[in-house]
Amino acid sequence: MNEKNKLTQLSELGEFMIIDKLTANNKTVNSSTKKSIGDDAAIIKYAEDFQTVISNDLLIEGIHFDLSYAPLKYVGYKAVVVNLSDIYSMNAIPEQILVSIAVSNRFSYEALEELYTGIYEACEAYNVDLIGGDTTSSKMGMMISITAVGKAKKERITYRNGAKSGDIICVSGNLGAAYMGLHILEREKKIAIETNTNPDWSEKEYILHRQLRPEARRDIVEYFHKWDILPTSMMDISDGLSSEILHICNQSKCGAKIYEDQLPIDKQTYNAANEMNLIPATVAMNGGEDYELLFTLNPNDANKLKDNNQITIIGEITDKLDEIDLIAVDGTPVQITAQGWNALLTQK
Ligand code: ADP
Ligand code: MG
Repeated sequence: MNEKNKLTQLSELGEFMIIDKLTANNKTVNSSTKKSIGDDAAIIKYAEDFQTVISNDLLIEGIHFDLSYAPLKYVGYKAVVVNLSDIYSMNAIPEQILVSIAVSNRFSYEALEELYTGIYEACEAYNVDLIGGDTTSSKMGMMISITAVGKAKKERITYRNGAKSGDIICVSGNLGAAYMGLHILEREKKIAIETNTNPDWSEKEYILHRQLRPEARRDIVEYFHKWDILPTSMMDISDGLSSEILHICNQSKCGAKIYEDQLPIDKQTYNAANEMNLIPATVAMNGGEDYELLFTLNPNDANKLKDNNQITIIGEITDKLDEIDLIAVDGTPVQITAQGWNALLTQK
């Protein structure tokens, strides 16, 4: 009997069995979770002085994830993390998620179990309770919709519209790695199809990881809390720094200068960009899916960042509304436009 014959068809189990089995060991750790999986709806209650922060993301196979190279466990982990990142970017703490999936009969029960292993790994890593969801079938492929719920004190919530002239612009971690990881995966997928050889991932592990199994910056939000730092504006970098700084400037009605030589770029990102004839700074500005935090701070708070090597000051906010510029290494200002991913392919 080959491996395939041992897999369980979803139709053998039926919807209720699938849900029961996938969530059989479901535990909750947050006192705000009053009623979890099992009834028609879940119940949560945060303490009186907190506001509820909610976000949802929909991921479609073939658009947001490619199962020819992304293991389902990583897809599950990433699906949770990208949602939590949205909650953290409001300077809030996520405590619950709901997971809805639609799957075609191409998937076995064991495949869903792998997806849920990743989902539960993320729940554990970020102290979040899985409190419900929905399960249904699709004609083709897999869809995953996740809703994350979190809490924050009203006065600590950070929006996109609070940046002020003179504020410093900061990012966490480094930029462009997830994009280069995707590039490498797509390239190797093509090569593997054409030549039937196994890819060589050496010196690329970090950027592949950043694409396949990213993390959300819970540590940064906790650091803000610990040192009583309140960013004037904040968002997470899912579409690329260029596009996100435009959002902050448009909503805050201000301009910005970002210095090319300050952009944090990992060595593997840098090398992979060079290898693929892309300009590393362009990759850092426009590559998406880093899930780092972009935020602005009153300059008086700059000294509070000294102990955190995960935060880089990359520029400043100005009062010149129509000047949102990248200052090139030679000092020339270049207007920032949201290029999106495709534009990157034609660079250099
Ligand atoms: P209904 O038919 O009323 O929508 P379901 O049978 O779909 O109820 O769901 C039963 C319980 O299982 C609910 O608590 C629901 O939130 C939960 N649930 C359903 N699908 C999932 C899933 N994919 N992951 C986690 N919980 C789920
Ligand atoms: Mg349902």
